[in-house]
Amino acid sequence: MKDCLFCRIIRGEIPSQKVYEDDEILAFHDVNPARPVHFLIVPKEHIASLADVNMSHQDVLGRMLVKANELALGQGLSEGFRAVINTGRIGGQEVYHLHVHILGGPEPVGPMLTRLAS
Ligand code: 5GP
Ligand code: ZN
Repeated sequence: MKDCLFCRIIRGEIPSQKVYEDDEILAFHDVNPARPVHFLIVPKEHIASLADVNMSHQDVLGRMLVKANELALGQGLSEGFRAVINTGRIGGQEVYHLHVHILGGPEPVGPMLTRLAS
């Protein structure tokens, strides 16, 4: 998609620090890391969000998750990591090109979300 930020990164119009690339997916470091290791895995096909997927996307979605552990290990995350897919307004998505965040480092990444007061 012409003006999509991550499509522009995929086309090489905006530089990124690549972690991995094949014909279907690209992984690159987040420009504003939330943990010592923070990279994103994106499909090369423009899919706006997880709310826009259908069964035609199952292969590329599977590839993104299957690659996640291998790429995390390559970044030194042998003791684990967190994978996050923010989706839509409620999910806090900022860039509308589907991406999986992979987050980790030497220390635990912390609680998933703060629980609402009951
Ligand atoms: P979201 O909130 O949509 O799940 O996450 C978008 C992520 O993209 C954020 O963590 C943000 O730091 C990252 N990001 C935004 N612009 C750029 C960019 O130009 N390059 C890279 N590498 N990451 C970006
Ligand atoms: Zn895109």
